[in-house]
Amino acid sequence: MISPYTLCPHCGLITPPTAMEYAVAGPGSDEILWTRPAEVTCCACQRRHLITEVDVLPNDAQTTCRRTGRITCTAVTAHPAGAARICCTGCGLYMEGDVDEATAARREVTEALWGVEAAATVRVARERARRNQP
Ligand SMILES: [Zn+2]
Ligand SMILES: [Zn+2]
Repeated sequence: MISPYTLCPHCGLITPPTAMEYAVAGPGSDEILWTRPAEVTCCACQRRHLITEVDVLPNDAQTTCRRTGRITCTAVTAHPAGAARICCTGCGLYMEGDVDEATAARREVTEALWGVEAAATVRVARERARRNQP
């Protein structure tokens, strides 16, 4: 999968997307057509944002997958330096990036918060739906 790393405007972390919607160059092509912005879902905060080609950060660092256990993976993934999460190109595991303390703390808070926030949003939406009923 094409996995462009960008600086998420919502959580401020450099992440690969968990999902991405983009235009392709033609039928059967997997090449991103950058004449239109692509919409990516941040893997840390799960919020979506639009990106264009200039937002894609260069892969100037690499990490060897640390997956062990039932599946052992040693694939080497290229990614931008400072990425908070790295999606292994071998097995798809979202690994924690080797970042400074402040970024690691931000990642922890973002990922912990997201679960709570998402649950709260669903609850609010449900309450609103209930209230709107005659
Ligand atoms: Zn984010
Ligand atoms: Zn892996």
